[in-house]
Amino acid sequence: ASPPRFYSAEATAQTDNAGSDGLITRFADLASLGVHENVVRAITRGMGYENMTEVQSMTISPALKGKDIVAQAKTGTGKTLGFLVPVVQKIIAQEPELAYAPNRFGGKRARSDDIRAIIISPTRELAEQIGEEARKLVRGTGLIVQTAVGGTQKREMLYRTRQQGCHILVGTPGRLNDLLSDSGSGIDAPRLSTLVLDEADRMLEVGFDEELRQILQFLPDRKVLPRQTLLYSATIPKDVVGLARTYIDKNNFEFVQTVK
Ligand code: ADP
Ligand code: MG
Repeated sequence: ASPPRFYSAEATAQTDNAGSDGLITRFADLASLGVHENVVRAITRGMGYENMTEVQSMTISPALKGKDIVAQAKTGTGKTLGFLVPVVQKIIAQEPELAYAPNRFGGKRARSDDIRAIIISPTRELAEQIGEEARKLVRGTGLIVQTAVGGTQKREMLYRTRQQGCHILVGTPGRLNDLLSDSGSGIDAPRLSTLVLDEADRMLEVGFDEELRQILQFLPDRKVLPRQTLLYSATIPKDVVGLARTYIDKNNFEFVQTVK
């Protein structure tokens, strides 16, 4: 099948063809792409995974190179780890001391406005699963993950974030919009470098388009602070193409479609 046209036919044609050069299939080989050994070890030893799934192999390399991603892959294909690896590595590349757990002799304490990545997921359950997988991945590093979902105590989440800080914020569109729009929440992302839209088709099905649009307004202007966007969806209907047009850098993106 020909890929959906996110932009002009030329822009689509200009992107590298996934499956060609530069792709790796084993997590251990992430080291050769500059991924920090503590992150590689969390996957190969902590999680116990050796081989990447297809969507992981096809998206992790281009995402590590800084490309935006639009990926279509079925449920259960390992998309979560696929976007978490580039998210985590990028933060460590920007602040190498975060690759190591802070010890009692020092180490910078995270703040609630240290947020470098926001991951948006359609449901509370999915957001919590992503948060759990992210915490496994950053175990042994100084990165802090917080989860913001509806139906839980907002005050507790804000207290925890103020105490611990936050580099990666995972949440549902409603709660994220609520926190980012409230200047008194302390949740602010002036240094955001990566945005992940997970299960984009489901988010639109549930009617979160307005929240997604609003969240954009609270993020740093892309002209001032370039950001990378990783978009994942099981299906790519017209409204997801529209979402991709809004979020994705048309001059630097990769479209990945997997069969398995
Ligand atoms: P998706 O988001 O595509 O629906 P998930 O990211 O939730 O899929 O992954 C599905 C399951 O597969 C999870 O339990 C996850 O821990 C596991 N998994 C992810 N990557 C791998 C891998 N490379 N090898 C084996 N299991 C994996
Ligand atoms: Mg998923």
